Amino acid sequence: MKLFKKLLGVTGVCLLTAVVLAGCGGDTDKNTKETENESVAHEHTVGADWVVDKDSHFKLCTECNEKTEVEAHDSETGKCSVCGVAAIKKDGACDLYFYDDNGNWIKCIHYAADGSTTEDKNEYEYFEDGNIKTIKMYKGDRLAYEAEYGVDTDGYNYEAKSTQYNEDGTKYVCESDSKGDLMKETMYKADGSIEYDYRMEYTYGDNAKKMNEKKFSGDKLIQEIKYIPLFVDSWGGGSYKLEVTTYNDDGTTTVEYFNENGEPLEDTDETAAA
Ligand SMILES: [Zn+2]
Ligand SMILES: [Zn+2]
Repeated sequence: MKLFKKLLGVTGVCLLTAVVLAGCGGDTDKNTKETENESVAHEHTVGADWVVDKDSHFKLCTECNEKTEVEAHDSETGKCSVCGVAAIKKDGACDLYFYDDNGNWIKCIHYAADGSTTEDKNEYEYFEDGNIKTIKMYKGDRLAYEAEYGVDTDGYNYEAKSTQYNEDGTKYVCESDSKGDLMKETMYKADGSIEYDYRMEYTYGDNAKKMNEKKFSGDKLIQEIKYIPLFVDSWGGGSYKLEVTTYNDDGTTTVEYFNENGEPLEDTDETAAA
């Protein structure tokens, strides 16, 4: 029976069910060999699941909890091919990532250089096709970010709505369309009142190229961006400059020009209101 359990353990799938935070210090590996005749009162019964710390993966004896099969992770830059965690090390610190079956990380233990740890986690809901439906990101126990996702006509996931919860109690909520363009953004103060609430409108030309972008605060148009083609090639690519008109509170307008990378061009005007 014991032998059977042991074989099952060795060939078992590598599920990660437990994390051992100890063992990051200087304690030496006391992996006792079964062949040694010392104080070993039993043959270890090796658990099925990999247990990990930031340096290694191992299996615990189900009877005495001793570490067996201790091995270093086989990657310092990506996932370990044996146990599936990623231990990313930098400057004496380490971020240890755990993943779900869809390849998205669900837990990250940050080991600071002084050995202290903090933990972040992500919770997901999935559509049946495996695309993400919702995500909740926690920093420690604090919900820091949550988002709802859509799936576009090509089957790609996009973030439709997200909320960032700041430590000072303020909150930023934005909504995007399936092209990734921002449709609405709202900043809330800590007391729940609105600091700003913007809505965007887009106009598209040939080849679904964005031609015009309008930003409203409530019903008031506060900014307009025109995408001015400098040249257009035969397959719809090309080069653009951006004309950004800002309608200021004092009734004046400011017109500025930018290149495609958002770098300012020279010919900016300050224009008096009509
Ligand atoms: Zn044992
Ligand atoms: Zn490993």
